[in-house]
Amino acid sequence: MAAERDVDVLVVGSGAAGLSAALGPREARPSASVLVAESEGIVGGSSRLSGGLTMGAGTRYQRALGIDDDADSLFHDYMQLNQWKVESAVVRRLCERAGPTVEWLGDLGVEFYDQLVFAGDEHVPRVHCPVGRGQAVVDVLARQCRSEGVEFALGRRVDRLLVEDGAVVGVGVGDDTITAGAVVLATGGFGNDPDKLARFFPSAAATGWAWYIGADGSRGDHLDLAAQVGAQVTGFDRGLRLLHADFAKIYEAYLPGWLVLVNREGRRFCDETAPYGIMDGLIEEQGAVAYAVFDQVALDDATAAGVARHKQKVPGSTKKQSPHWNTDIVEAMVTAGKVHRTDTIADLAASFGLPPAHLQASVARVNASVDAGEDLDYLKDPKFLQPIAAGPFYGAEIRPATVCFTACGLRIDPAAQVLDESGHPLRGLYAAGESAGGVVGPRYVGSGNSYANCVTFGRIAGASAAAAALVEQPA
Ligand SMILES: Cc1cc2nc3c(=O)[nH]c(=O)nc-3n(C[C@H](O)[C@H](O)[C@H](O)COP(=O)(O)OP(=O)(O)OC[C@H]3O[C@@H](n4cnc5c(N)ncnc54)[C@H](O)[C@@H]3O)c2cc1C
Repeated sequence: MAAERDVDVLVVGSGAAGLSAALGPREARPSASVLVAESEGIVGGSSRLSGGLTMGAGTRYQRALGIDDDADSLFHDYMQLNQWKVESAVVRRLCERAGPTVEWLGDLGVEFYDQLVFAGDEHVPRVHCPVGRGQAVVDVLARQCRSEGVEFALGRRVDRLLVEDGAVVGVGVGDDTITAGAVVLATGGFGNDPDKLARFFPSAAATGWAWYIGADGSRGDHLDLAAQVGAQVTGFDRGLRLLHADFAKIYEAYLPGWLVLVNREGRRFCDETAPYGIMDGLIEEQGAVAYAVFDQVALDDATAAGVARHKQKVPGSTKKQSPHWNTDIVEAMVTAGKVHRTDTIADLAASFGLPPAHLQASVARVNASVDAGEDLDYLKDPKFLQPIAAGPFYGAEIRPATVCFTACGLRIDPAAQVLDESGHPLRGLYAAGESAGGVVGPRYVGSGNSYANCVTFGRIAGASAAAAALVEQPA
């Protein structure tokens, strides 16, 4: 006879990963008891702030649009983009299950736009865009949880795991303990803890301008809990950083396409509209700094257009002026010393310590591309080509400093079971979402990689935890 316990499965964290996990035990056995402990007073974590874009291959939504795709193709793209520096078996599971998980979300009531977008560098669009963004996904999942009798304990920050005979058998919150047949950690990332950012995502912290766009609860508690039980931590220095100009802490996923970026040598190094997952690595290789260069006409044109000229248009997003790259903000940033304005390109280069001749040559080459009607060097879509010809000229330093999410966490196997430092499964402990490491690699596979990871492995963790917790329990 199994020991008495307070609940069958205890889920720590109520983001997309935790809510998806919480539905697993009731799918396995409708009488299973599930409790979600959430540190904040509100359900949803970063998942509710998110765009909720979710990657998945071979879905009915793709088929309806005539898009031919499957898990093999996604796996190939994912592995290649990451140069195989990921946990292959875990990624394989993600690629196989992400598509069905998107459909599962649809079955539960999440509505998707009938337009898919590209995530990063893949051949076909496979990013599913929910109407109402991440909040709508969280609402659907939380409603489903409640309708199935899952209980929530808000304002309860789990501070320890209970271990008995080498198995995790519950959690502690202050003076209280709750025993469980299995525990799923889904506590999100650590972007809100500067010390953990410096320790586990040092390339973000090293920008000196790092700021985090996610939820308050992302304090990296999973890393403390992992240390208590000897869980293996993987995914060091991984996550997603977006390019940032240190104007204001307003998140803009892409720089406007009309900006030209140069490196410390004053040379262009990329198509400035590359997917943000790619751009993060590209700028790192330039020493994690670049300079956006433009002229008065480009700035005036962008402001007059009234909409940010980004490459990617996500369905449902309202067209708005860029919060950073318009005349009012740039003028204010000139005053603040964050944008340099000069009469000549040589002076602009000198003001940033760039070789003037290099910047002059780079600008001349951009102007030649404009004349030719094609980007002669980096093949940027010609609609974004803008001359840099009429002074005054402007420049702003750019760093990959906007931390979107973090990806260093507990190492899991394809069943989402946490592994110890020797690589053995830790009985009773599962992890999913940002708190699990090894799924997201050094290159973020464009929009939708993280949400797909959270929901897919949330479901897997919930099912695995249920199987472990219910095995000895009479129905
Ligand atoms: C603005 C924004 C836009 C984004 N857009 C996209 C997108 O479109 N597509 C995409 O793929 N990714 C996107 N991301 C990233 C993605 O949304 C997140 O990585 C994902 O939602 C994280 O889900 P999660 O369940 O792992 O964590 P969370 O959603 O953060 O949930 C974790 C929960 O655990 C709670 N918690 C933490 N510690 C404890 C504790 N000790 N005890 C109890 N509870 C605890 C937290 O309060 C939180 O509620 C975006 C992120 C942001 C911030």
